[in-house]
Parts: sequence; structure tokens; C-alpha cells
Amino acid sequence: MPSIFTRIVNGEIPAIKVYEDADTLAFLDINPASRGHTLVICKAEIATLTELSDAQLIATARTTQRVAAAIQRSLQPDGINIMQNNGAAAGQTVFHYHVHIIPRWQNDDVVQFWQPRSVAKEMIVTIADSIKNAMNR
Ligand code: AMP
Repeated sequence: MPSIFTRIVNGEIPAIKVYEDADTLAFLDINPASRGHTLVICKAEIATLTELSDAQLIATARTTQRVAAAIQRSLQPDGINIMQNNGAAAGQTVFHYHVHIIPRWQNDDVVQFWQPRSVAKEMIVTIADSIKNAMNR
């Protein structure tokens, strides 16, 4: 069954669109975290970041930057969060690659999504080694 975002791409359900090109589409989130919360999707129904082709990744990143710049010019937020969830454990609910652009204002009530924690340096080094060793696999 096609994702809800594929149905938006195909015009089967409505969305409030702000930008579209051959590979990407940007529209306002139906349940926004803040004023102007926008989603940028890859039109092809790919679930997660690591499954995107280079071309799909570049196209989505370019649209994200362009839409974020338009949000900055139009809504003039104090800052912008770029968020992207992969997998249910990370909060992904629509399994069709999308980037959240969340405009932020000083002292707004948008919840920061992590708490800084202390961890032993050896642990960080071990984790870094594990990632480095996997880079070219
Ligand atoms: P995520 O949790 O990262 O998968 O984000 C999915 C986002 O899609 C949520 O912020 C939803 O509010 C948003 N969403 C779901 N359905 C629609 C829709 N039909 N139009 C606009 N946004 C939607």
C-alpha cells in the first residue's frame, strides 16, 4: 500500500504545498511543532536515509536548504531545527523519507529532544572506532 506521502505526491490527498520539483516536494506538517513546520520529502517512496541514492539525497538536501531559506526570509524565526527520524524507535511514523524543518523562536515551547549526558571518554573512543571501521563496508 502506498504511503500517505506517496498519495500526496500522486494528488490523491491534499497537502499545503510550498515547493515542488521533479524529485522532491515540500508541504506544511498537518500537526506542526511550531509555526511554519514544513516537511521536505523525496518523491520516490524510500523509507530511510541510508536507503537513498546519492541523487535523491542531494535533491532532498538542496530543497531543504532552499525551503529553510524561504522560511527564514518570510517568517523570520530566531533559529531553525532540521530533524529527520529513521525507524520507529527514533520516532518515525511515516516510513517515507522526509526532513522536518522546524522554525524556532526564543523561549518557544517546542521540546528539545535530548538531554546531554556524561559518558566515559574510553566509551566514546570505542564507539568511534566501531563507526570508523564500518565506514567503507
Ligand atoms: P515522523 O514522525 O518523522 O515520521 O513524521 C511524520 C510527520 O508527518 C508528522 O509530523 C505528522 O504530523 C506529519 N503528517 C502525517 N500525515 C500528514 C499529512 N497528510 N499532511 C501533512 N503532514 C502529515
